[in-house]
Amino acid sequence: MNIKQQIEELRAQLRAHNYQYYVLDQPSISDFEFDMLLKQLQELEAQHPEFYDPNSPTVRVGGEVTKNFKTVVHTHRMYSLDNSYDRQDLLDWQARIVKNISDDTFSFTCELKYDGASINLTYENGQLIRAVTRGDGIQGDEVTANIRTIKTIPLSLKGAYPASMELRGEIILPLEGFQKMNQQRISEGEEPYMNPRNTASGSLKLQDSTLVAERPLDCLIYGIASEDMNIENQMSFLQAAKQWGFKIPDTAKECKSIEEVFDFVDYWDAARHELPYETDGVVIKVNSFAHQEELGYTSKAPRWAIAYKFKAEQKSTILESISYQVGRTGAITPVANLKPVLLAGTIVKRASVHNEDQIKKLDLRIGDAVFVEKGGEIIPKIVGVDLSMRSDSTTAIEFIHQCPECHTALTKQEGDAKHYCPNTYGCPPQITGRIEHFISRKAMDIDGIGAETVQLLFQAGLISTYADLYTLRAEDVMGLDRMAEKSATNMIEGIEASKQKPFEKILFALGIRFVGETVAEKLAMAFKSIDALATATFDDLIAVDEIGERIAKSVIEFFEDLGNTMMIERLKTYGLQLALSEEKLKSQSDVLKGKVFVVSGVFSIYSRDELKSLIKDNGAKVSSSISSKTDYLVAGDNMGPSKRQKAESLGVPIISEVEFQEMIQ
Ligand code: AMP
Ligand code: ZN
Repeated sequence: MNIKQQIEELRAQLRAHNYQYYVLDQPSISDFEFDMLLKQLQELEAQHPEFYDPNSPTVRVGGEVTKNFKTVVHTHRMYSLDNSYDRQDLLDWQARIVKNISDDTFSFTCELKYDGASINLTYENGQLIRAVTRGDGIQGDEVTANIRTIKTIPLSLKGAYPASMELRGEIILPLEGFQKMNQQRISEGEEPYMNPRNTASGSLKLQDSTLVAERPLDCLIYGIASEDMNIENQMSFLQAAKQWGFKIPDTAKECKSIEEVFDFVDYWDAARHELPYETDGVVIKVNSFAHQEELGYTSKAPRWAIAYKFKAEQKSTILESISYQVGRTGAITPVANLKPVLLAGTIVKRASVHNEDQIKKLDLRIGDAVFVEKGGEIIPKIVGVDLSMRSDSTTAIEFIHQCPECHTALTKQEGDAKHYCPNTYGCPPQITGRIEHFISRKAMDIDGIGAETVQLLFQAGLISTYADLYTLRAEDVMGLDRMAEKSATNMIEGIEASKQKPFEKILFALGIRFVGETVAEKLAMAFKSIDALATATFDDLIAVDEIGERIAKSVIEFFEDLGNTMMIERLKTYGLQLALSEEKLKSQSDVLKGKVFVVSGVFSIYSRDELKSLIKDNGAKVSSSISSKTDYLVAGDNMGPSKRQKAESLGVPIISEVEFQEMIQ
């Protein structure tokens, strides 16, 4: 056997063992033997780079680092799904199908709705060549190197398959693996991850694929897009994909009638808790691909499929105590401490309660049995009290009167359900909260400094406002706990670099109440410098598009505060950009004032974001969907046909980026 044959033989063996182990869950050799074969292959490949194969089993261990994920436009759009919540919704959907297809008999395929991150896998001649996240459905991020490390995704397919195809699946983190990861994190003194879904989707965007390889991710396939396949329906597709080497849950079932669909849904609503992974519903599809084609798509979802959402899982547990958190604005948030309970696959110990009114409305008492529910949000919420369980030993909750951190008497304003600690400049979590907001990614995005460092620097007495960051010297911070020389210089460099951040970012970073990212942009464009904004009157402010009374008042209050104006003067002396740059000013005009634009597709002169900021810089608005209010649709390559149709039917002019360029010149 020559070297090439030897390498190929090893690859084939490893592939087969990998499939046995991960997909079929029937290991054929010991882990040790597997590792020895892998090592042998790694050595041969290292000696013979001429036989490189991007899909060799050795890439499973990772090693490739992606700094920036490339944006890729999907050849076939990745749609979302319409939702249904009860039997009537499903009956209505069935009636629409009956009306829209030519046959009177058809069947459904029911699959579980896997709760993870969707992925689009492109195979050419049986080789995985690309993996792209769903993104906005039109374009996503290429994460191929990371995906290659997921063991249940075959890198080369078995059997007979279409020469060119895209497979759609969900990247999930099975519960057992998730819990193991968390145990490990806790033992290392780190915060556990919140839930499997976010951890799965976060994993896809890790820069170092070695870290992805270490996570017990899994992939479940549910769809195909291909021009040259001879598969007739969803059920046969699932069977075919299994032959190609994919992991296909055998929970999918063909249902001949909507009653059978109801049975499937009812069965899994109860049985889902025994599954090894999370599911939040069932996806029901019209089985025949010919029927699917006949039914087509709406602007966002296929007409031939619908998701049935299970009701959020509820659990009952004991409310043990309430603690109070102080945010950067001084707002007090009560947090319920619960007797730990397993809810939708994660251990829940805390739930948010928002404010005092909420406590009264729910009639919460310490010691009560409460129902907790997890919706889309990360922190679960209390939805009610089990009054039948209420005992005499429960005690009323008296909302605090003093700040738990600095003991200042709390204030509460008419029309605002929240209590506040008014000690803005003396209350530690408010001080550090403002600095943490200042450095955060969407604000100044300062590298080399995080929430922990802020705490450290504050406790060491080195900073008490964000302006103080700019007076830090490496030698001041080097001696601090866990601050090596390298991290200290990184931090100082990060702070220095932030002086170049544009005005609108600083305006957001200042942490003026109600001034979020977009409002900060609007204000920056309208007033152009911090001095102009500081002297703006209430009327000047509300004259700006989308700036209401609440924001105007808050801006005025901010600049009336001497502490704030002094800090801004300091920021000026440190060289921060407190006015729009010359370049930005030059690009500004109001030639498009009052107009509404929609941008769609891919462009060659500008990036999509550049195009959007140019539209805004010239006084117009950008909207995400076409309506009768849209003035222009700027269309690039690969724009969805439904967008074009909609624009045409509403008589919205469709222009190219070149035509747009002419408009603003
Ligand atoms: P949504 O994001 O709620 O609009 O739901 C659409 C998403 O559900 C798709 O992008 C898929 O990632 C996901 N999904 C999970 N399981 C399935 C399945 N069996 N069939 C189709 N889509 C699924
Ligand atoms: Zn306080």
